[in-house]
Amino acid sequence: MNLFVKCAQVFCVAAISVSAFGYSDVVTTRDVLASRCDSHLETLRIYDRMTSEWEAFAQERKGKWELDILYKAVEFAADKHEGQVRKDPERSPYIVHPLRVCSRLWHDGAVRNVNTLCTAILHDTIEDTDATAEEIRALFGDRITYATLEVSDDQSLSSDEKKQRQLEHAPHMSLDARLVKLADRMDNVWSIEVSTPIGWDDAKIESYWGWGVKLRNVLHGTNTALETQFDSWFEEHYSNAQ
Ligand code: ZN
Repeated sequence: MNLFVKCAQVFCVAAISVSAFGYSDVVTTRDVLASRCDSHLETLRIYDRMTSEWEAFAQERKGKWELDILYKAVEFAADKHEGQVRKDPERSPYIVHPLRVCSRLWHDGAVRNVNTLCTAILHDTIEDTDATAEEIRALFGDRITYATLEVSDDQSLSSDEKKQRQLEHAPHMSLDARLVKLADRMDNVWSIEVSTPIGWDDAKIESYWGWGVKLRNVLHGTNTALETQFDSWFEEHYSNAQ
């Protein structure tokens, strides 16, 4: 094979992988997201609010804040979670959850680190989709892959074993992973509070809250604003329950 043909082939492979998850912008990524979540209103509302602030923040930083990787993460996660739904009665598209976890970190926790925000968007892809660590490493690099693996449960363990493992590991995880774990747990308890999953009784809800509080406690010192918000939800939940 001559050099010209070889170079053309390499270029073609690179162009295909770039066009799959590269050169994204706020509009292109919104189109991809809308097509993967059937234009779910809440998902697009979260995306629009968060990305308008991302764009303004990046402009303030004069290009020193990396937006492309965030859009790439949204497209990757929307693609991988396509067809999956949450446990709420409305059967919301799953992608609403990782976007909301990212939004909690961005809006409520004032987290501005792109690696942490990307990890939030990708945090359930290894655990719940066919995404692999190698795939994430090739697209997003080592740090994001490491944190995504840290927050992924070993699916061969029972539910109780997973919870125990999380409690043991959480305090020793990287800051990226601890922030994502905290916001993830917050979003899950918030979700069951606003819309009880089908088939859940009071005992299951209380057990879920109890587990959430244990995890919050071992993550103490991760992000004051988020922890304060979590504590206020906890107080409200228990005052309503009494
Ligand atoms: Zn999650």
